[in-house]
Amino acid sequence: MKRLENKIALVTGGSRGMGAAIVQQLAAEGATVAFTYNKGAEKAASVAAELTGKGQRSLAIAADSADPSAVVAAVDKTVAEFGRIDILVNNAGIAVMKPFEDYTLEEYNQTMDINARAVFVGSQAAAKHMGKGARIITIGSCMADRVSGPYGTLYAMSKSALTAFNKGLSRDLGPRGITVNLVQPGPIDTDMNPADGAHADAQRKNISLGEYGKVEDIASLVTFLASPESGYITGTAITIDGGTNS
Ligand code: NDP
Repeated sequence: MKRLENKIALVTGGSRGMGAAIVQQLAAEGATVAFTYNKGAEKAASVAAELTGKGQRSLAIAADSADPSAVVAAVDKTVAEFGRIDILVNNAGIAVMKPFEDYTLEEYNQTMDINARAVFVGSQAAAKHMGKGARIITIGSCMADRVSGPYGTLYAMSKSALTAFNKGLSRDLGPRGITVNLVQPGPIDTDMNPADGAHADAQRKNISLGEYGKVEDIASLVTFLASPESGYITGTAITIDGGTNS
């Protein structure tokens, strides 16, 4: 039997990057997966088509994480379609990197709304439908613990909010047998942070292993945290950064 047989998962931001890899790995382990997207309708459709090709049901939901009512609606649609949620992966995120003096209030609000508020709101909505053995897994960043250069102030601030959120929520949901964990990636090759991008070499110098991580590295950890094998892990942050923060 596969590790996630009969489980229902919802992944936010599943149309590209880590989210798409997480969708595929959870499904490969037997989960039925719903996922959200914002602008990438075509990419979302191709993620869903890949699952259909493997004979798996899925649900692609247009839901802007900046809009709390859309986040709640995505949870409700998942439950309406599949009956419940066993695994929530809060993955959707944005990174606006620039000199501190140049941030606008709009960028601040957008970043905090997507990277922090949506995680709060989505977890709250999903928890109402979760039972014993359910999982809430959030994608933070190793930058919550260490910022190794300029331009990351707002992003790091938004991700550090998840650290305490994760701890608090593990206390709230622990008595119900629900685990809550934070995954903190380092540089991972995606559209957000391409391994051949202008700032890649500076990041690479900081990585003990000398190279960017792959989306599958993050998906494997998330899949483990979603599985029954991780049942005694909760309230913790696991940094997966090739040694960036060491
Ligand atoms: P990408 O930019 O490659 O992909 C982002 C995904 O999130 C897309 O599916 C996108 O969907 C979705 N998304 C973005 N904005 C919204 C929104 N407003 N509402 C709903 N979905 C949205 O990012 P990564 O895969 O690199 O990042 C995934 C997570 O990992 C993020 O939380 C990021 O902060 C974090 N992270 C990334 C690191 C890296 O080096 N790549 C390092 C550490 C953390 P669409 O295209 O449809 O808009």
